[in-house]
Amino acid sequence: MTSTAERTEIRHLIGENWVPASDGSTFESRDPHDGSLLALVPKGTAEDGTAAIDAARTAFDQGPWPQMSPKERAKILHAVADAVDDHRDELAQLETRDGGKTITQSLHAEIPRVAHNLRFFADYVSMAANEAYPDGDLLSYVLYPPAGVVSAISPWNAPLMLATWKIAPALAFGNTVVLKPAPQTPLTAHRFAELALEAGLPPGVLNVVHGFGGEAVAGPLTSDSRVDRITFTGSSATGVKILQAAALNHTPVSAEMGGKSANIVFADADLDVAVPMSLRAIFGGNGQVCLSGSRLLVQNSIMEEFLERFTEEARKLVVGDPKNSGTFMGPLIEARHLEKVHSYVELAQEEGGKIVTGGERLTDAARADGFYYPPTVITGLTNQSRTAQEEIFGPVETVLGFDTEDEALRITNDSPYGLAGILFTQNLDRAHRMAARWKAGTVWINTFFERDLRLPFGGEGISGLGREGGQYSREFFTEPRAVTIRL
Ligand code: NAD
Repeated sequence: MTSTAERTEIRHLIGENWVPASDGSTFESRDPHDGSLLALVPKGTAEDGTAAIDAARTAFDQGPWPQMSPKERAKILHAVADAVDDHRDELAQLETRDGGKTITQSLHAEIPRVAHNLRFFADYVSMAANEAYPDGDLLSYVLYPPAGVVSAISPWNAPLMLATWKIAPALAFGNTVVLKPAPQTPLTAHRFAELALEAGLPPGVLNVVHGFGGEAVAGPLTSDSRVDRITFTGSSATGVKILQAAALNHTPVSAEMGGKSANIVFADADLDVAVPMSLRAIFGGNGQVCLSGSRLLVQNSIMEEFLERFTEEARKLVVGDPKNSGTFMGPLIEARHLEKVHSYVELAQEEGGKIVTGGERLTDAARADGFYYPPTVITGLTNQSRTAQEEIFGPVETVLGFDTEDEALRITNDSPYGLAGILFTQNLDRAHRMAARWKAGTVWINTFFERDLRLPFGGEGISGLGREGGQYSREFFTEPRAVTIRL
């Protein structure tokens, strides 16, 4: 296998074939740190998308994957996970160069999670309990046959981790998959597909096509009637387009979309925990995390002290080359995104906000070739401002004050999004009360970003449709069938 430095060309994986785009066109994948060319990537056409669905359909209809026992599939998925573990360094380097994610995060969090996604769902399917309902001389039970062909469409901010969050359960339940990674970050999906085939995944079970949405390669993935499930992670705006396309064929969609989550700090919080966690919750992942606590609600009685500590620590975060182990924040993904993030900082000022720190692109010699933006903290806005209502998806924190629990909840839930929430308090009565009234798919109390894959994951409002994880993934990736027999 070629190393990153040697790689010049990526191909689609369709069936057992590595192929270019049907019209031969390509696009470039570049390192957001210095703009260096990493790969030429097939700019997939609608024909490519259709060919990948053909391959996945054939692999599903003719087997052997759907007919294997869960244990047989689990054995292969564990072998794929082993290959990921064995290539952890290489995959982490690829992820960091392609998307600007810090090497610490790629190496110690995201690539290990890739292997964990595979192992978790392999074991979950092998060991899941099943329902049986004896009722007099009737016995009823439930079968969970695979749904069929799954289109998996993933974003750039945690490329392989989020792709395998879809692929792992889809495959473990016996489906075949067409994956379309985000065009900004194609490298790890390509390498993963190579490793999966080498580890024994039958050809056609996982197909990977590269390129863009709409009329291009992603078109058939959402509109072909031979697709049985669509699992999408990305922006809420794209989610609407996918839902519209899927509706024409009644294709079920699981959509994990944007967020504008509240991070609430009460006066009784342990600030030695709340300050570093709150920093991580907005500036971790280069500020490009759907779950980030991008609205920071601080109880007014501690606002001054908290803001001083938070801002001081934010200024100290190391922003630079993501390949260095001491870096906390790498570059933003691309020029267009940097412009979007900065435009929101300008908007915040127009809306009356005060930039406490950050707010200008970093253009010194070491960072001039990359899309570097500093941790930025804004005060003086209301929750009604566009800055506080819209997803910026960058290292920009909007700080809002509150006095009471009810006020904090009212502000929190006054958002079209409902993905996650973070709460710092030592009053556990309050914590449970608030979790029960919070409009969010996930609530973290005195912690952040912990993920137990048995839990439902997804969002309310425009943050999501449906849930995945454990039994929730089973409901989505299978076609539950009730069987009743008279004894
Ligand atoms: P995006 O919506 O622009 O793209 C996501 C994927 O959809 C890409 O692969 C893209 O090529 C594809 N796509 C675009 N238009 C399409 C179309 N018309 N039909 C089919 N596919 C199409 O999102 P992005 O910029 O890659 O990712 C950032 C967004 O993802 C943010 O909004 C973030 O909050 C969200 N996100 C959500 C979660 C979650 O779990 N809820 C996780 C990560 C990211």
